[in-house]
Amino acid sequence: MAGLRLTPEMLEGAYEYLRVSPPFSRWNLPHADQVSFRVMGTRDRFGHFRGRHKRASGNEAFSEIAISAGMVRSSDLLIATMAHEMIHLYQDETGTARGHHNPAFQKLARRVCAAHGFDLESF
Ligand SMILES: [Zn+2]
Repeated sequence: MAGLRLTPEMLEGAYEYLRVSPPFSRWNLPHADQVSFRVMGTRDRFGHFRGRHKRASGNEAFSEIAISAGMVRSSDLLIATMAHEMIHLYQDETGTARGHHNPAFQKLARRVCAAHGFDLESF
């Protein structure tokens, strides 16, 4: 199948691009070195976010952003999907993540879509 073949390095690059662009640049998000990036095979979703958590060892694991290699086959979709997951990261970091895609998420999503030219309907 034609299209993009994602690598973790590409996810990291997309994250850093967004992190230095508005509105993310004002959110104090962790540097890419402090986030885990994973390419996943699932086809039932575009991306997935998992917040920081304690390991059995007692050490804290980084937050993880996973993007579906099967669903995300273009650069514009990669950037939009990464932006979506970064709102989840921001909500997790600021403790406002109660409820998936809650009103606070929707408000941030409108701001991100306006700044980056994403389609809010499919975001
Ligand atoms: Zn979401």
